[in-house]
Amino acid sequence: MIYENSLQFAEKLDQNDSLKHFRNEFYIPKKENGEDKIYFCGNSLGLQAKQTQDYIQKELKDWAKLGVDGHTDAEHAWKPYHEFLTNSMSKIVGAKPEEVVIMNTLTTNLHLMMVSFYQPTHKRHKIIIESDAFPSDKYAVESQIKHHGFDPSDSLLLWQPREGENLCRYEDLEKILDDNKDEVALVMIGSTNYYSGQSFNLKKITELGHQHNAKVGFDLAHGAGNIQPNLHESNADFAVWCTYKYLNSGPGSLGGCFVHERHANNPKLNRFAGWWGHDKATRFNMRKDFSPIPGAEGWQLSNPPILSMAAIRASLDVFEKAGFENLRKKSVQLTGFLEFLVKELNNDKINIITPENPEERGCQLSFQIKDADKSLFEKLTEAGVVADWREPDVIRIAPTPLYNSYKDVYNFIQILKKLLNEK
Ligand SMILES: *Cc1c(COP(=O)(O)O)cnc(C)c1O
Repeated sequence: MIYENSLQFAEKLDQNDSLKHFRNEFYIPKKENGEDKIYFCGNSLGLQAKQTQDYIQKELKDWAKLGVDGHTDAEHAWKPYHEFLTNSMSKIVGAKPEEVVIMNTLTTNLHLMMVSFYQPTHKRHKIIIESDAFPSDKYAVESQIKHHGFDPSDSLLLWQPREGENLCRYEDLEKILDDNKDEVALVMIGSTNYYSGQSFNLKKITELGHQHNAKVGFDLAHGAGNIQPNLHESNADFAVWCTYKYLNSGPGSLGGCFVHERHANNPKLNRFAGWWGHDKATRFNMRKDFSPIPGAEGWQLSNPPILSMAAIRASLDVFEKAGFENLRKKSVQLTGFLEFLVKELNNDKINIITPENPEERGCQLSFQIKDADKSLFEKLTEAGVVADWREPDVIRIAPTPLYNSYKDVYNFIQILKKLLNEK
């Protein structure tokens, strides 16, 4: 697409956008004067779909009316409630339904997956993560290493960008695997890096890991609902994600989990078990030995919070209506427009560290601001732009295709331009 640097052009793109009406299905936070803020923080907390309240109210009403009988008699019975989310979610992450389950929260699921897929031995005990991994992932991995009696200073390997670069190179990952031959037990990477916005080729990473007999898992916190990770095809052993970022399911909502179908019936895998992962036919027969449901559902522990799942269902229904492929198509164009306008600013203070190739990124662009203190970001906030600042000098901007417009992007650039000229 050939972009033009004008408000009219942004408005034309909005008019021709077949997804434009979805913006009205969300609550957009407002400035004091009542105008919409420019909300670019869907990578941190997605906005509320208006229908979410109805979905939650429905469960509250059924609970009031039915009490415990709601488990079986609610319109969307609570006992199998998580199953109502599986089909939509599996499409969004490119998996088979039996490979996907919604349960717990992200970091909890990461631990549960490592119980099964990090089985260190005296020789093979190392884990590779990105050097800029999200802190929670690093803490989780380090604590698993310690839990097994190893020392993170030996067992944790960092895949990092080269000196003077911002992105990780696959040949460097391969080198780490070669240099630590027969010692790497697990490769655990964020599918889309939260800081740089770099989206990795999951299939390639999985192949590299498997060639070296390591297990491979991904954290899709910044991938789910943003890029199409094609989890099944990637052949990854497991993946985990949250649903409150691009999947708009509300603060602290439940997470998702993927276990590749080849592990669906493997009795040799260690796992932490709970009754909700037990064979549905005999779950309420409390005397049975644990017999897991085949597939990802077999990793469930507890009966889940239905109110939170109702919010996820509301959100997934919006994704179903929009169609994930359509969303991704718009997303590529929307972020492309943002990139074009930033380049038009022709300001050498701004360096986009996110890859230029749309296949190597999602909707987020990370701007490194030369000599920036936080004041530029604070002024953006005052002007009604909701974005995100990461120390020491990065502003993350994530225009999402469901509720952001091309005009949002255009208006943001006008504000940024004005602030940069003031300095
Ligand atoms: C947002 C995010 C988390 C947050 O974890 P919770 O367990 O949901 O609090 C963890 N890892 C990554 C990569 C994230 O982006």
